[in-house]
Amino acid sequence: MSVVVFLLTCYCGIGLGLFAIFMARLQVQRRAAVFERSLNAVVGNVALLSTVWPLTLSLQPSLLLDPSSLYLPPEPSLKIPKIDLGGWVPKDPPRCSSVITYAQGLSRFDNACGVLTFKAVDVLPVLTRRLSEHPKFRNGEEGWLFDWLSRRNELDVSSVAVPRSLGRFRFIADDLLESGVGEIFCALCEADIPADCLIIDQDEIGRPGWAFKYYRCPESHPLLTVELMHSSV
Ligand SMILES: [Zn+2]
Repeated sequence: MSVVVFLLTCYCGIGLGLFAIFMARLQVQRRAAVFERSLNAVVGNVALLSTVWPLTLSLQPSLLLDPSSLYLPPEPSLKIPKIDLGGWVPKDPPRCSSVITYAQGLSRFDNACGVLTFKAVDVLPVLTRRLSEHPKFRNGEEGWLFDWLSRRNELDVSSVAVPRSLGRFRFIADDLLESGVGEIFCALCEADIPADCLIIDQDEIGRPGWAFKYYRCPESHPLLTVELMHSSV
């Protein structure tokens, strides 16, 4: 065997090995339904990166450990506003993991003591639907949340709290709880509240002022409170 053939075999062998490692990582991490790139495009990217493996290994060795940037949107989906009038843009947010928690705390109506836990993969479809129904939300909290969730570390199973400033997450939480998704903990009872023990009621729509929807534990502690609509007198 000539030296050239030997070197070529080695080159291809290492490239194929790299491709196998990439695909194994993708298999673990891939959640095609919620990412904005198709599987074909991702596999094409992986094949290219494996073909030029000397470049890949020298320029971006971290891709082997965490190839998630290959299947995320090519551009950040969110343009963080330069002027943050609402003050909601989180400062130094933690990286999102596969499990998120949300505690509403003080709302317009009361001080909610519920701690809600959701799988990130369950939250994304609700956000995607909201963003497709209201494209202007992309530049707001929903857009930021979509970006944050999409860039999560799915392998991290420790829970990460939704940043405090993102108060609009209450509407997402409402959608999720309505469809029976999520776990609820009452901080006052210090107990998990099973879905069939959850009390959900709401103000009569049409009365003057704010109408709210309330999620309560069996002891009537407020867990989550969401505005339904605002009608003036
Ligand atoms: Zn309670």
